[in-house]
Amino acid sequence: AKHRGGNQFLFYSAEVGAQFFEKSDIELHLADAIRKGDIFPKFQPKIDLHQGTVIGGEILARWQRANGEFIPPDKFIAIAEQQHQIQALSASLIWQSSALAGNHVRAHSLTLAFNVSVQELLEPKFSQQFSATLAKCGLSPEHCEIEITESCLIENFAQAKSCVDELRQLGIKVAIDDFGTGFCSLNYLRSLAVDTIKLDRSFVGELDVDNLNNMIVVKAIIDLAHQLGIKVLAEGVETQTQLAILKALQCDEVQGFYFSPALAWQDFCQFASQFNAE
Ligand code: C2E
Ligand code: CA
Ligand code: CA
Ligand code: CA
Repeated sequence: AKHRGGNQFLFYSAEVGAQFFEKSDIELHLADAIRKGDIFPKFQPKIDLHQGTVIGGEILARWQRANGEFIPPDKFIAIAEQQHQIQALSASLIWQSSALAGNHVRAHSLTLAFNVSVQELLEPKFSQQFSATLAKCGLSPEHCEIEITESCLIENFAQAKSCVDELRQLGIKVAIDDFGTGFCSLNYLRSLAVDTIKLDRSFVGELDVDNLNNMIVVKAIIDLAHQLGIKVLAEGVETQTQLAILKALQCDEVQGFYFSPALAWQDFCQFASQFNAE
């Protein structure tokens, strides 16, 4: 028993050691990776249920290391924030996305959605800087959307609200990400004007498991949003049943593995033209 205990401890500490090594390795190479463009955009299709077409894509950051291995964003976004590299990362993603997608987005009136972290949003000049970057990239504001998480709004509501107002005045659309997970959803909707709420995938995943309360809450969220003039996108749609229920509940837009994961730009184009032709 003693011997086994010893092994378990060794195993455990090796695991912790590996995680620690991975984290320091990311910390060490992040700035360089951003500068070299090793962190690049993938595009997850967003589908409009009324038109039945692809209306744009959410840009999700991907880091491919020299050895071919991918580091998921959950592992480097927080570090980018700590290192004050998140602004550089966002700018790089906007540049790369507009270089790849700009013409197509204009020709087909699509929307590119960018994730923005709380650190960026609470920067006093964020909206001006963001719109200046768009202008330099030749992306018009009407083709851009910013996704702000609910938790980000809670951090400093007054400042987040004035930033959201400025962005919308500049013609940039705003969506609330992970809607329903932040514990004060209804309160802020009294005073915050946004274009879309993105219903968190935890609600969507419960739609096909016979959870009546969940269905009632989802219906109420959709009805409430519509009465406030806000569209609802359901995140993380993975099954035909979830999709059918969301359609029945008048949900406006969907995104999820049932349709497609985030794709390289060329694959996104192919997916969109195939999907729209069906
Ligand atoms: P998010 O903004 O909520 O993005 C959705 C995440 O759910 C993405 O994970 C996406 O790949 C995944 N997803 C999409 N459809 C499905 C589905 O049907 N089922 C399941 N289980 N998952 C699905 P990803 O790409 O790993 O990104 C994780 C998070 O990292 C994002 O969550 C976002 O908060 C953050 N992130 C990604 N790229 C950026 C970025 O460029 N800037 C910032 N600030 N954050 C980013
Ligand atoms: Ca998002
Ligand atoms: Ca989300
Ligand atoms: Ca999230």
